[in-house]
Amino acid sequence: MTKWSKRTNQVHAGTRRSQYGEVSESIFLTQGFVYDTAEQAEARFVELGEDEFIYARYGNPTVRMFEERIAAVEGAEDAFATASGMAAVNAALVSMLKAGDHVVASRALFGSCLYILENILVRYGVSVSFVDGTDLDQWKSAITDQTKAVFLESVSNPTLEVIDLKSVCEIAHAAGALVIVDNVFATPTFSNAIELGADVVVYSATKHIDGQGRCLGGVILGSEDYIRGTLEPYMKHTGGAMSPFNAWVMLKGIETLDLRVHAQNETAQKLANALEGHEKLSRVIYPGLASHPQHDIAMAQIGAGGTMLSIELAGGQEAAFKFLNTLELFTITNNLGDAKSLVTHPATTTHQRLSDEQKVTLGISPGLVRISVGLEDSADLLADLTNALAVT
Ligand SMILES: *Cc1c(COP(=O)(O)O)cnc(C)c1O
Repeated sequence: MTKWSKRTNQVHAGTRRSQYGEVSESIFLTQGFVYDTAEQAEARFVELGEDEFIYARYGNPTVRMFEERIAAVEGAEDAFATASGMAAVNAALVSMLKAGDHVVASRALFGSCLYILENILVRYGVSVSFVDGTDLDQWKSAITDQTKAVFLESVSNPTLEVIDLKSVCEIAHAAGALVIVDNVFATPTFSNAIELGADVVVYSATKHIDGQGRCLGGVILGSEDYIRGTLEPYMKHTGGAMSPFNAWVMLKGIETLDLRVHAQNETAQKLANALEGHEKLSRVIYPGLASHPQHDIAMAQIGAGGTMLSIELAGGQEAAFKFLNTLELFTITNNLGDAKSLVTHPATTTHQRLSDEQKVTLGISPGLVRISVGLEDSADLLADLTNALAVT
């Protein structure tokens, strides 16, 4: 951890320079590392020094720069970078669990996170209980002394429910459970997860950290004890490491993360304000609006509404499809956190796999559209949205 602020750390933290003194971070596109002598090789396998590497599955200088930079930005002791966000979620859980353990998770989760909890962990004898993440009483009754880990998305996808992370951490810690937070929607810019009590923070770097839709990546942040003691052995031997090229893209992405996310957040707030009450919409969901059910928690714990916004068209799926097909600036896709503004119809794409009953429970209605706000001019974006709403 450094004496500099988050924004400064985004530009400088973790930089390592070779003997050439390059300004921009180098891509060390190498799988392995050579040793001067057999004795040096032997010594390195006994204990690794600060600037020493053995094999890129264990670590690589470019990947290490990314890990040190994101750890400084998040205020975490250490970090391990992974091939994707899902590799990070999987490793964060599997590396610490064994048969007989119990996990409590919020129900409103990204589909693949739900798959790991519901379909994979249970096969290995881990029991999983799901709760409504916004209801603290449900967390209190589900978390017992058998509970080893608590898993949640701080802001849920796509209905943007905000969880009272501070209170959930208090409840979990009283029972001796570790809190693992998928913090993608809060972004590293607005995250206070570790300060609020989270033990492990996970990001899909594919989203805001790259921010320009190029590479897959993920990262797990936590104490040195958890990262090096629990996670690293699992990662080293199972092979979910981030590629050095992707780490370099992510490093350059972090340099502008703060600027991008603040600009996207500001535009999202403007769009939410302008759309709230629109005659074609039955709901505008944005944590930065006073009407949002967890607005106060969002302001106290995240401090911003974020870069994501969901709207519900009163005319259902037909209106939603017409709306998507009329938009000129917004791109129909399922990614988020990009410089380009993106729209998704969760009920028929990202959340298609869910039963009708689950969709109702999670609020994923036929009229719901998820919007990832990009870096375009806010007036252009609003004009495009209102124009497309007019034809529905
Ligand atoms: C995208 C996403 C993931 C998965 O990340 P990938 O990089 O696509 O593997 C996990 N959780 C959340 C909340 C996400 O938005």
